[in-house]
Amino acid sequence: MGQELPLQEGFLTTRVDAVVNWARSNSLMPMPMGLACCAIEMMAFAAPKYDVARFGSEAMRFSPRQADLMIVAGWVSYKMAHTIRRVWDQMADPKWCISMGACASSGGMHRCYGVVQGCDNFLPVDIYIPGCPPRPEAVIHALMDIQEKIRNQYSVEHDGIFGRNMPNVAANRPTIVTPDGENVISPVELYTQR
Ligand code: SF4
Repeated sequence: MGQELPLQEGFLTTRVDAVVNWARSNSLMPMPMGLACCAIEMMAFAAPKYDVARFGSEAMRFSPRQADLMIVAGWVSYKMAHTIRRVWDQMADPKWCISMGACASSGGMHRCYGVVQGCDNFLPVDIYIPGCPPRPEAVIHALMDIQEKIRNQYSVEHDGIFGRNMPNVAANRPTIVTPDGENVISPVELYTQR
């Protein structure tokens, strides 16, 4: 079954995966790993103007045991990398990671012996945000990408068989309806037509 099926008597059938993923994707708690200037934009992301409470992620957690989304913002020195990895290891599974800005993703302008050339050298990064610094809107976009990633995975089976790679289900993107309401086209088709 897999599709939501509204019945006449006010019932709704769904999958456990869909419910778990819905809850997880709307309650991500960021672990702010602010290391340099990008951290200022990350703070703005959580401030009232951008209202990330709309996505259930306004509660920044400074304890790894209460967080499931690490945001690495700023360049990472080799000294700091060990600490970041330790914090990451203390976060409970399932967890996700965003690399924010050019420095976190590639070392940026800091092409030197003391800076790690990308935090994916020691962390499993899910989403990279380009820019120097990225705007808070870009961080929100990355958060939405993480949400979509969570919604399109077999969470229950994956949690039950820890460590086994599960195939992702097909992306559940909405269709796009043209202004005249006739041609319904999926975003995938739209992109491939370009
Ligand atoms: S990407 Fe730019 S704003 Fe972000 S930490 Fe590096 S220099 Fe600073």
